[in-house]
Amino acid sequence: MRKLIDKLYRENGLSKEEFVTLLNGFGEEDSEYLFSKSRETAHKYFGNRIYVRGLIEFSNYCKNNCYYCGIRNGNLKVDRYRLSKEDILSCCAQGYALGFRTFVLQSGEDSWYSDEKLIDIISSIRETYQDCAITLSIGEKTYEQYKKYKDAGADRYLLRHETANEMHYAKLHPDNLSGRNRKECLYNLKKIGYQVGAGFMVGSPYQTTEHLAEDLLFIKELQPEMIGIGPFLSHKDTPFAKFPNGTLEMTLFLIGILRLMIPNALIPATTALGTIHPKGRELGILAGANVVMPNLSPVSVRKKYLLYDNKICTGDEAAECKNCLQNRMQRIGYQLVVDRGDFQPIKNNRYAFYAK
Ligand code: SAH
Repeated sequence: MRKLIDKLYRENGLSKEEFVTLLNGFGEEDSEYLFSKSRETAHKYFGNRIYVRGLIEFSNYCKNNCYYCGIRNGNLKVDRYRLSKEDILSCCAQGYALGFRTFVLQSGEDSWYSDEKLIDIISSIRETYQDCAITLSIGEKTYEQYKKYKDAGADRYLLRHETANEMHYAKLHPDNLSGRNRKECLYNLKKIGYQVGAGFMVGSPYQTTEHLAEDLLFIKELQPEMIGIGPFLSHKDTPFAKFPNGTLEMTLFLIGILRLMIPNALIPATTALGTIHPKGRELGILAGANVVMPNLSPVSVRKKYLLYDNKICTGDEAAECKNCLQNRMQRIGYQLVVDRGDFQPIKNNRYAFYAK
């Protein structure tokens, strides 16, 4: 396994077969070996600086029916809510005062927010917070829609591909959704010039290590600026209620691999990782992640945006969330920074010399 990890470190990638071997065969010592390299790599690009993104979950209405997701349309137990533009702006104001310089607007696929409404929200944030990045995470849209949001001032877009294997995708989603369209959306976002975030759930139902290897190869090909992964966590009111959760070990190992594949990528230690283990986010950072995403949503709606059971931080004010994460990061030798935390291309890559 060490040889494969060394090769991954040297070449920023492996073949599908090699990834499968690594994912099937790694043990605790291999993890430690990988993390020493992935942590060193993150240090090289980011030092001990951790970027912060303020997450605003602005609507839990969703037209889709993904089998894993707690806010799926078919879950009639969800108490649905929508935040107004004023609500969202007041989340931003609170976040700005706390030192956040990226706002992530996430929601279900809620067509109540017409393009006109979204553009109004985006451009208002853009006008008020010129030194902040605006990230959208609102699902699949057309090229033209993505373009309009970009023109209104959005900088980044998170759209996890969920699984790169289309047959596996079809096991996680109803027929009206396809892996092909999801990937097409990601390529459109890239073409428009967004900083793009892809990613997948680890340990989702029916997932094999071959699927995970395909996820890694897809990411290698797409070259996203951001990569969000977290364990699948079951939600009691979904068709996947009875499936086991993804594991901490596999999620951390994949974070390590991703860090070596795309050394300068922005990789969050996600809330799902913090949910599966009390120190999950710290372990994520120590495996090579460099971003955290505290919640900025009003406390009154926090418990209503439940993608999975036992989600953490649903009772804390934004300031508490930020302080808690700041302390957690300090205890492991890292610090949160006040910075947009944009993706930075690698300037002095090894080809630069020859290009001159
Ligand atoms: N509607 C937006 C945002 C989705 S929620 C979109 O379509 O992109 C953000 C992410 O949460 C999803 O992409 C999915 O990977 C993750 N998620 C949803 N349900 C989950 C579950 N049960 N366990 C773990 N992660 C989940």
